[in-house]
Amino acid sequence: MGAGTVRIVAVGPGDPESVPAAALAALSAAGRPGAARWLNELLWRDFYIHILAHFPAVARQSFRPATRAVGWRNDPAEFDAWRAGQTGYPVVDAAMRQLAASGWMHNRVRMIVASFLVKDLLIDWRWGERWFMRQLVDGDPAANNGGWQWAAGTGTDAAPYFRVFNPVTQGRKFDPDGVYVRRWLPELAAVPTATIHAPWQLSAAQQRAAGCVLGRDYPTPIVDHALARERALAAYRAGATV
Ligand SMILES: Cc1cc2nc3c(=O)[nH]c(=O)nc-3n(C[C@H](O)[C@H](O)[C@H](O)COP(=O)(O)OP(=O)(O)OC[C@H]3O[C@@H](n4cnc5c(N)ncnc54)[C@H](O)[C@@H]3O)c2cc1C
Repeated sequence: MGAGTVRIVAVGPGDPESVPAAALAALSAAGRPGAARWLNELLWRDFYIHILAHFPAVARQSFRPATRAVGWRNDPAEFDAWRAGQTGYPVVDAAMRQLAASGWMHNRVRMIVASFLVKDLLIDWRWGERWFMRQLVDGDPAANNGGWQWAAGTGTDAAPYFRVFNPVTQGRKFDPDGVYVRRWLPELAAVPTATIHAPWQLSAAQQRAAGCVLGRDYPTPIVDHALARERALAAYRAGATV
């Protein structure tokens, strides 16, 4: 299901309670096994709409008070690298370049890039939230806020703060052949699949052979994920107020 559906669901008319029920009935009658799953996704959308309506302060601050004092680093150069898809982590960069080119990205990579911005770079989730709203064709204040607060570990249903997505593991799991990465990062086109999600593992000779010399054709990683993860955990623990 692609971006077109998002627009229909996001702006289409109808009673918010009857539309999902009618959709489920129609899809179930047609023997579509994914109907319940799809309804579940719609329920997330309605859940976040209700959260924003009943707790409007989430538009300005973290839902959970205990997470409002994280010491963000907010490095502007790193924010620029994230926005431009130049972090040195292929799945993050591919997603950010897809966003810039098309205004859309799949939910999985939204979670990955959000986790990277907030946890690996320790940049305030509100910076990412604002950037998504400027870029997404399906930008929606409630769903976007809910997604960012989920990723940051600050929201209603938030992922625990110590859950930090590993961009290499996530890339290997969800893009095992590197098809997605190669599509959006042409400079990695000839990098072997074994290292497509971690090109820094190539030797200098292998980089030359692949036409992808790090620091020239593609960035070296702007942070070391393992170190950044520890830094994020420390910042969250230090900021926790309960
Ligand atoms: C950081 C982050 C930011 C996001 N920003 C937005 C946004 O601005 N606008 C937006 O509509 N969704 C947002 N989402 C939710 C989700 O990524 C998209 O709704 C989803 O990618 C739409 O793809 P789809 O059409 O395949 O949805 P499907 O999986 O087919 O789901 C059908 C519909 O349910 C709704 N939906 C599905 N998942 C979610 C979810 N997690 N939260 C809220 N609604 C959901 C959408 O309206 C979607 O079109 C965000 C998620 C994250 C992690």
